[in-house]
Amino acid sequence: MSLYYKSTRNSELRMSASEAILKGLAPDGGLFVPEKLPVLDVSMEELKGLSYQETAYAVMKQFLTDFTEEELKDCIARAYDAKFDTEEIAPLAKVDGIYYLELFHGATIAFKDMALSILPHLMTVSAKKNHVENEIVILTATSGDTGKAALAGFADVKGTRIIVFYPKNGVSKVQELQMVTQKGGNVAVAAIHGNFDDAQNGVKAIFEDQEFAKELAGKGYQFSSANSINIGRLVPQVAYYVYAYAKLLENEEIADGEEINVAVPTGNFGNILAAYYAKQMGVPIAKLICASNENKVLFDFFETGTYDKNREFVLTSSPSMDILISSNLERLIYLITGEDSDKTKELMAGLKNGGSYAVTDEMRTKLADFAAGFASEEETAACIKHIYDKTGYVMDTHTAVAAHVCGQYRSRSEDARKCVVASTASPYKFVKSVMTAIDGKYQSEDEFALLEELKRVSGVELPQAIRDILDAKALHTLECDADKMKELVRDLL
Ligand SMILES: *Cc1c(COP(=O)(O)O)cnc(C)c1O
Repeated sequence: MSLYYKSTRNSELRMSASEAILKGLAPDGGLFVPEKLPVLDVSMEELKGLSYQETAYAVMKQFLTDFTEEELKDCIARAYDAKFDTEEIAPLAKVDGIYYLELFHGATIAFKDMALSILPHLMTVSAKKNHVENEIVILTATSGDTGKAALAGFADVKGTRIIVFYPKNGVSKVQELQMVTQKGGNVAVAAIHGNFDDAQNGVKAIFEDQEFAKELAGKGYQFSSANSINIGRLVPQVAYYVYAYAKLLENEEIADGEEINVAVPTGNFGNILAAYYAKQMGVPIAKLICASNENKVLFDFFETGTYDKNREFVLTSSPSMDILISSNLERLIYLITGEDSDKTKELMAGLKNGGSYAVTDEMRTKLADFAAGFASEEETAACIKHIYDKTGYVMDTHTAVAAHVCGQYRSRSEDARKCVVASTASPYKFVKSVMTAIDGKYQSEDEFALLEELKRVSGVELPQAIRDILDAKALHTLECDADKMKELVRDLL
């Protein structure tokens, strides 16, 4: 059966999966959503013994129905290979009664690799399928991790170019070095004078600029996105929630059909939406626990029904979640409006014009599957230290936000269901914040000196991604104002 995609702002639009992947964002500024969320056609019993790659196929084939079996299996095989430092791809670590789904074993040591190692392959197959002659230009705004993962995924991929924008003072030292040292003949990286939202708004504005699209089409280019607004990012992410459940079952941590909760450190709302899609597909997930850092716009939304970005933007130790406009929430809003694209469009216009919108009480009742919380900077650090002191396990700052909120939820709700925490980055990526959380004495130390110290306290070897940047040369020094992104793109092409 074929599954088509429509826009959250136009239900009439109908595109195949490959067309939606190529476009990234719908022409009306909406996000592509499946006409109907598929239900798993294999039982958990059958999924139990499968490898990550086999699970990914079982999930993704139901979303990407215009890909042949051979095409999809080939994309999966190329993505989830020895670039990952473990054959399990996404291992589960049981620590202090909580299951950490480690999504950071890929090339750039953040969970973005889970989707961005496959997106370039999905994109090139999609281009072939749709007889695209133009070169595809990937424009990406990043809060730090997407940028590097997208660069690594698209570097030297034939028929593509990639331009990444990151907030100049909004990423960790390791994140910045990872990006500015990226090799490849088709890559460009620019630091924006502004925050992530500025970068993301700039990219969205370029996508919506039909004049500019025409101008570039004349030169043989067309844009697409590697951000999680691209459905080709979201679909691969559903797979690891299915995999995690099957693994828990296989390891006899849970009984067949037993409900679990999932806690996700959330920024752009992509990862947690993938978990929600997994639930809709039939994975027995009860609560989706949305964890925010001090930029707690999502927590406030779930508490009050009002989304309001008019607030101070805080730079935190979990920079990949320093976001006030969570783009993927639009896909959830669309669902709770009863798939009403006019209503969704109206709410999003409110966000664009006034910076806020409120959902109705009826819509709020459809959010009952979600629980929300946030962690302050102190709580995040205390969580890292507590778990380290108790167990020796070292987690990164983003994961700690979710671990804290998960604990908070468990004591507040008396909901004793087992909980999977999405562990979204290696602690090496945020070594300074992590080590300082463990012991204040590291505060004054150089980031690089701390790498060895982290190795000592955690017993985990330096990942290849870190060894790569130790002596690499900075190749990218572009900077620009947030309102000059379009000009920069024009110059680069
Ligand atoms: C991107 C990112 C997040 C936030 O994920 P979203 O899908 O944007 O909600 C959390 N943690 C890390 C380490 C990330 O890179």
